[in-house]
Amino acid sequence: MAETDPSVLDTDIEHLPGVGERRAEPLRKAGVKTYRDLLRYYPRRYLDRSTVTPIRDLAEGMGAVTVVGTVTAKGLVPGRGGRSRFELRVMDESGGTLKCVWFRGANWIHRLYNKGDTYAFHGKAEKYGSQFSMAHPEADKLDDASAALTTGRIVPLYPGGAALEKVGLNSRVFRKLIYGLIKAHGLAIPEVLPASVRERYNLIPGNVALRAVHFPRDTAERGRAVRRLIFEEFFFLQLLLALTKGRQEKRAGVVLDGLGGHARRFLDEVLPFELTGAQQRVLDVIARDTASGHQMNRLVQGDVGSGKTVVGVAAMLMAVDAGHQAAFMAPTEILTEQHYANIQRFLDPLGLTTRLLIGGQRKALRDEILAEIADGTADVVVGTHAIIEDKVAFQKLGLAVVDEQHRFGVVQRAKMFKKGQRPHVLMMTATPIPRSLAMTVYGDLDVSAIDELPAGRKPIDTRVYTDKRRDEMLDFVKGQLREGRQAYVVFPLVEESESETLADVKDAETGAAELMEAIRPYRVDLVHGRMLAYEKEEAMDRFKAGETDVLVATTVIEVGVDVPNATVMVIEHAERFGLSQLHQLRGRVGRGADQSYCFLMTSYKRTSEAEERLATMEATTDGFEISEADLRLRGAGDFFGTRQSGLPDLKIADLVRDAEILGEAREAAFTIAEADPQLAAPDLAGTREHFGRTAPKSLGFARVG
Ligand code: ADP
Ligand code: MG
Repeated sequence: MAETDPSVLDTDIEHLPGVGERRAEPLRKAGVKTYRDLLRYYPRRYLDRSTVTPIRDLAEGMGAVTVVGTVTAKGLVPGRGGRSRFELRVMDESGGTLKCVWFRGANWIHRLYNKGDTYAFHGKAEKYGSQFSMAHPEADKLDDASAALTTGRIVPLYPGGAALEKVGLNSRVFRKLIYGLIKAHGLAIPEVLPASVRERYNLIPGNVALRAVHFPRDTAERGRAVRRLIFEEFFFLQLLLALTKGRQEKRAGVVLDGLGGHARRFLDEVLPFELTGAQQRVLDVIARDTASGHQMNRLVQGDVGSGKTVVGVAAMLMAVDAGHQAAFMAPTEILTEQHYANIQRFLDPLGLTTRLLIGGQRKALRDEILAEIADGTADVVVGTHAIIEDKVAFQKLGLAVVDEQHRFGVVQRAKMFKKGQRPHVLMMTATPIPRSLAMTVYGDLDVSAIDELPAGRKPIDTRVYTDKRRDEMLDFVKGQLREGRQAYVVFPLVEESESETLADVKDAETGAAELMEAIRPYRVDLVHGRMLAYEKEEAMDRFKAGETDVLVATTVIEVGVDVPNATVMVIEHAERFGLSQLHQLRGRVGRGADQSYCFLMTSYKRTSEAEERLATMEATTDGFEISEADLRLRGAGDFFGTRQSGLPDLKIADLVRDAEILGEAREAAFTIAEADPQLAAPDLAGTREHFGRTAPKSLGFARVG
C-alpha cells in the first residue's frame, strides 16, 4: 500500500468500484472527476449526539436544526393547479413527531422515502398549531448511521442534490466509496504543504487530514483535520494572489501632478460643500498614485451616499489639468444620464467640454461625439460600456473612472485598462467588501475606503411590513408627500432573469395604477427597463424636477440615482431581493438632511433566509455590516458570482468564519512567494506540483492582462 503511485489519484472517477458510467456523470457535474476530487469532496456536516435535536425539544426561533427520525407515514397531497405537495410524518426516540413538506419536485421526491426508514433532516422547524413542520429539509438516509450515533460515532453527511440522489448517491454511499478509496490509496496522497509551514502553523499531515475529515475518530481530530484543510485551501489561494501580484506590479502610467487649476476651482468654487475627511484622504491617495509613474489600479469602496462621484470627478480633473482626457463609465443608461447631467453642471463653469456616449444615439450625433473624443475636444466623456468599444478612440485618455464596478464584467473592466495609452483606472463600488475578502479577492488591487458619510445624514428608518399594514404605509407616504417630499416604489423582477421581462413590467404597471388610485391626488410616474432611453430619461427628469411625487420603478433605479428630496423608499416583495440590492435600493433615499424611511413590504410566507435579510435591513444601515451578513448568508462564491471573481471555489474554508486562518495562510504564502517565486526549493516540490495543477490559467478578477 505504501508503494502506491500517486498518479493513481488522477484516475477517472468512472473506474472507481461502485461508480460506473451512470453515477460518473452527475459526479462530474458536482466537480468530482477523479479519485483525487472525491477525496476532496468534503462532508457538508457531521452528525453526532451533540448536534442532533430531539423532536420534543424543538422550540420556535431555534434556526436550522438537525433531527433524526423514522418515517411513519408519507403521502402526496393534491394542491391547486394540479401541483401536489409531498408530506412525511416522522417520529424520533423522544416520541415527538415532525412533518416534512416538499412543495417543489414532489412528484419524484416521494419515491426517495420509505416508511420505516430513518433519516437525518436538517432545516428550520416552524410551528403550525401544535405541530412542527420543516419545509424542504435536507435529508440523509441513515441505515448504519443511527446505530453509529448511539455508539457515539461521528457520521459525515455529504453535499447532495437531486442529480446525485437520483442515481443513489446519498451520504451512505459516499461514505462507502470514500472509505474504499482511502483504504486502497490513502498513503499515496502527496503532501502539498512544505514541512516548514506545517511546523510553524502546527498543521497535521495532508493524508491524515483527508482521512480524518471523512472519518474522524472524535471531534478533536476532526477539528485538526478541518483546520489543516482550510489552511491549505487559503494557502493556495494566497499563493496565487502573491505570485500574480508580483507579475502585475509596476506597469508604466502617465504622470499627473495632483490637483491643478481646474480641480481646485471645482472643489473650492463649484462644489457647494466641503469634502468629508474621508473624501479628502482618498483624493490624496489618488494624487499620489497618479504621480508615481505607474498605472493606477485602485478600488474605492464607499457606502451608498458617501459621495464617491465627487471624488471621481476631482480625479478626472487631475488628468485634465495635466493635459489629458478623462472618462467616466457607469453600468446603466439611467445612471449614466444622471452622472452626465451632474458632471456637465460641475464642469461647464470651468469652461470644460463634457460629452455623453450611450447606445442608441443617432448616428450623426454619435459620429460627432466620436470625432470630438478623437481630436481631444471632449475633455470628459461620460458613458455606458459604449466607452470601451474599440471604435471609441481617445486622443489622450489619462484617467478612467468605473462607477459601480461590481456591475461590470471582468472583460469590460479589463478593457478599460488597455484603452488608449493605458489610463489610470479608478473603480468605485458601494458593495463594501469585508476586510477578509478584500485582501483575498483584491490581492492585486489597491483598495481605499470612504468610510464617513457627509455630515448631517440621518440613518434611514426601516420597517418590515406585511400586506396587512399596507394602508398604514400608504398613509405614511401621503404624509411625506404632503410635506413636499417624494417617494419611490420598487418592484422586483418576477422571473429570475438578467433583464426585465414583460411580466416584470406588468407587475410594476399594475402597481403604479393601484397606487395612483390609492394616493390621489399625488402624481405617480413609472419607469422600467423596457422603456426607450429617452422615455426613461424624461421620467427621471420629471421626478428630479419635482413634477411627479412618486416614482414607481423596477430595479432599473437600483444603482446611483440621486434625488435628495426623495425621503421614502417602498420595496414591494422585499423578500425576493438580495441584501446588497436592498441596501442599494434603500440608498436612494437618505441623501439629504431630512429623515428618510424605507418600507420593506413582504408576504407572510418567507424563507428563514429572507427573514434574516429583512431583519438585517431593519437592524442596520451600515454597508459593511450588511455585506458581512450577506456573505454569511450566501457564501463567498455567490457573493461575487463566479463570473465576477474568477477565483477558485472554496470547498471547506469560509472567508468570514475562518478569517484568522486566512491571515496565517496569507502570511505563509506571501513569505514563500517573495523568497522563492519559482517554488524551486526541494521542500516545495509538492506545493509546486499542486499549484501547477490547480491554479486557474488566467485570473479573471479585478484586473486582467
Ligand atoms: P455615492 O457614493 O452613493 O455614489 P454620491 O456621489 O451620489 O454618492 O453622493 C450622494 C449625495 O451626497 C450627492 O447628492 C452629493 O452631492 C452629496 N455629497 C457628496 N459629498 C458631499 C459632502 N462632502 N458634503 C455634503 N454632501 C455631499
Ligand atoms: Mg454613486
